[in-house]
Amino acid sequence: MGRRRRRVIRVVKRTLPKVFSCPRCGMISIKVKVKSEGLATIACGSCGLNLQYNLTSKKEPIDIYNEFVDNYLAGRISV
Ligand SMILES: [Zn+2]
Repeated sequence: MGRRRRRVIRVVKRTLPKVFSCPRCGMISIKVKVKSEGLATIACGSCGLNLQYNLTSKKEPIDIYNEFVDNYLAGRISV
């Protein structure tokens, strides 16, 4: 009887998505760029959606994107 060695390979690679799906055209081509502490831009490389987004606090691109989609779907943003 031999002891079995269990090798657990843990991948510590956490890459945040850099492109998001566009609520207008459905393509995964939204890019969120944080310009400064209070300003970000959201742009779609497919349908040309482009807007500036004022940040009320420091946020990650994914949070900005989620907020944008919420507002977009709620009709608070028209682009
Ligand atoms: Zn689009």
